[in-house]
Amino acid sequence: MKNIQCRVFGHYFLVTRHVTYHVKEFRCKNCNKEFTTSSTGNLTPLTPKFKEINDVLDRIHQKRIELD
Ligand SMILES: [Zn+2]
Repeated sequence: MKNIQCRVFGHYFLVTRHVTYHVKEFRCKNCNKEFTTSSTGNLTPLTPKFKEINDVLDRIHQKRIELD
C-alpha cells in the first residue's frame, strides 16, 4: 500500500523531464504515477495524449533554443 502515503501527505514529485520553461513532467516517488503541467498550469495525469503533446512542445522548444 504505497499509495496510502500519497493519500495522506500528497504525492512526492520528482521532475522527469523539462519540456518547456513552464511545462514539466513529474513522477511520484512513492506510487510512480506520472503527471505533467497542463495548459492551465495545474498538474494533470500524464496520459498518452499529453505525452504526445509534450513531445511536440519539446521538439519546438529545442528548435527555439538552437535558433537563439
Ligand atoms: Zn504518489
